Amino acid sequence: MTKAGTLELARISARGVVQGVGFRPFVYQLATKYNLKGWVCNTSEDVKIEVEGDRETLERFLVELQGQAPPLAQIESVSTTYHPSAGYKEFEIRHSLAEEGKYQLISPDIATCQACLREIFNPKDRRYHYPFTNCTNCGPRFTIIEDIPYDRPKTTMRYFKMCPECQAEYDNPLDRRFHAQPNACPKCGPQLELIDARGNCVAGSNAATAASQLLKDGKIMAIKGLGGFLLACDATNEKAVKLLRQRKRRPFKPLAIMVIDIDEARRHCHISEREEKLLTSPQSPIVLMWWKPGSTVCQAVAPNLKYLGVMLPYTPLHHILLRETGIPLVMTSGNISEEPIAKDNDEALRRLSGIADYFLVHNRDIYARYDDSVTVIERDDIQLTRQARGYAPYPIHLTFKAKQVLGCGAEEKNTFCLTKDNYAFVSQHIGDMENLETMEHFENTIVLYKKLFRIKPEIIAHDLHPEYLATKYALELASQFSDVKLVPVQHHHAHIVSCMADNKVESPVIGVALDGTGYGSDRYIWGGEFLVADYKGFIRKGHLEYLPLPGGDAAIKGPYRTAVGYLLKLLGGDSLTCELAFLKEIDALEIKLIKRQIQANLNSPLTSSMGRLFDAVSALLGIRGEIDYEGQAAVELEMIAYDSIGNESYPYSVIEHDGVSIVQVEGLLSAIIKDLYQGTAKATISAKFHNTIAQMVCEMCQSIAKKTKINQVALSGGVFQNRLLLRELVSMLESAGFSVLTHKQVPCNDGGISLGQAVIANFS
Ligand SMILES: [Zn+2]
Ligand SMILES: [Zn+2]
Ligand SMILES: [Zn+2]
Repeated sequence: MTKAGTLELARISARGVVQGVGFRPFVYQLATKYNLKGWVCNTSEDVKIEVEGDRETLERFLVELQGQAPPLAQIESVSTTYHPSAGYKEFEIRHSLAEEGKYQLISPDIATCQACLREIFNPKDRRYHYPFTNCTNCGPRFTIIEDIPYDRPKTTMRYFKMCPECQAEYDNPLDRRFHAQPNACPKCGPQLELIDARGNCVAGSNAATAASQLLKDGKIMAIKGLGGFLLACDATNEKAVKLLRQRKRRPFKPLAIMVIDIDEARRHCHISEREEKLLTSPQSPIVLMWWKPGSTVCQAVAPNLKYLGVMLPYTPLHHILLRETGIPLVMTSGNISEEPIAKDNDEALRRLSGIADYFLVHNRDIYARYDDSVTVIERDDIQLTRQARGYAPYPIHLTFKAKQVLGCGAEEKNTFCLTKDNYAFVSQHIGDMENLETMEHFENTIVLYKKLFRIKPEIIAHDLHPEYLATKYALELASQFSDVKLVPVQHHHAHIVSCMADNKVESPVIGVALDGTGYGSDRYIWGGEFLVADYKGFIRKGHLEYLPLPGGDAAIKGPYRTAVGYLLKLLGGDSLTCELAFLKEIDALEIKLIKRQIQANLNSPLTSSMGRLFDAVSALLGIRGEIDYEGQAAVELEMIAYDSIGNESYPYSVIEHDGVSIVQVEGLLSAIIKDLYQGTAKATISAKFHNTIAQMVCEMCQSIAKKTKINQVALSGGVFQNRLLLRELVSMLESAGFSVLTHKQVPCNDGGISLGQAVIANFS
């Protein structure tokens, strides 16, 4: 036992997100409070602390170190060893130490804090209306960092030399801006500029005010934000919103809006307590919420939808613009169709000059592209449908010690995933991998993550689809290194394992993977899959029956083709001569061609996809025959179902074939047609269809559980973005005694595939 009063030295290592979040000044103040001597220092892997005092004081210090840490710090572990006193005379903050091969977690960018906001709107403050105000509790992090340790010379702020006042804040351990790397003021920091589409300067020092006036006048503005350019316009001005859609070539895809505060958000949406908490959190994501009928936000913002994506201002510039305009603003990614978000000024002018009338730019470079995150609250829990700002690159914690693996993901809404130690670093949303720009963004971001987290993959995992660009990238990369192992992973196995890892579950589950398209082990297109799966492998226990997709991709873009294909296959040619309204919209010649395509088996791949079944029903009901964005037909089918919730359902059958259960939908489709002839409301038909799918999935799970004694079900795949289906199914499964896993930290859509791939490759 140590006697009270004897000086001891505690060597402490704190790990987690502990740099760039005001942790060292906090340690400094804590040590000063207890009159402890020693030092604190950032290294490449942790924050190291040496403090000396008597044992009792040191222990109190340690309790407070973990219990009172700054709001953005995420302490994952604190280890302490005790040693004889070293005789320190004072407490100091030492220079950061870079260590070869070591790494640490990095904070995502964080929404402007209350203390900074008070300064921005105080006319007497030197940062009054300064759009780049930040401190250790808020501001850019991941989007400006080029390497670790996180210090100003390793960020895009290195080009701005601090003025004496900013430098004094930066050097003062008692200041809120002590070592705030992006610290700046109007004198020494980045500056705004308003330019027109030709690149001519329109306004300098009063750029934000001038931009606000233009927005009020109905103009479209490209605004440089944290992770790239956003396109903004007045969300209550239908003409402006329609013009933006026309120029962006996006007639239907829902746009997000930004409103000044939670009270304004409440004028447009029904907001639960949990949704309010998420909206106002430091992550400040887009939250999809129930749209109020009386909202002044025009329908063109999210045509045919009942949910509206809303976010609050997360940078000082947003706060200034929202205050000056006084209107809700559309804020959508600065890109054309599926290209990645533009991030550099020149690039934005080049790519967005046909869309934006004006550009509100600044001279702080963005290092990492970063979209806004999209979330929903379901069952009182957050679900990320797009993981980016505020969340990435914070890792998923794994239940095992991982090898260094790269999972390259799939095609749409792609991400990649790198594993190391107990972490899976799932990248921010990269986008649809169908053009050169997205491919470059993908490759550059992999390079950045490998550098920041010091990862050299020994295994590369990829989708089975040979034509995916991410698959080609994996093969190409592996061919450059003789010691790298390639692991192909089936798409729906990856979905289910992604959901398991998301929930820290390792034991086998019944995996229900419902999505649009995934390459199957038998080379058909899967997507309505019932698996028994764990990290090591899977058995396909059941699936939707195979049906033809006339024209392949053409059927995905035109669900009416899928509907024709399904009717022809299941109900025969006569069903196409009947008086179905949706058939009258299609050229008779095209129907003939589709028939011939299917009969001759020409470019009509077979699919067991659940997404396509939703498409077919949506087209059959005359709701949506051609789509603008992925899932549109299914989303609009879901929307009308909310107008009629009942318990009725349609028939379907299940047959056994070689030990695999196959769900047949002939009865389902002919019953829907019968309802259509009888004049049943489309809302009722849609609600009955949703009930049927929930019942079918539940029944399949019960039958698999009977044979396997597994009572845990994992739900994954893009179809589960359908909130009505998810709610119904989860409650049915839970009533049937199952424990149900759903996605939380990674999307249920293909944005989660890379995590599943990387985990499976770890066990290959
Ligand atoms: Zn702040
Ligand atoms: Zn300054
Ligand atoms: Zn998928």
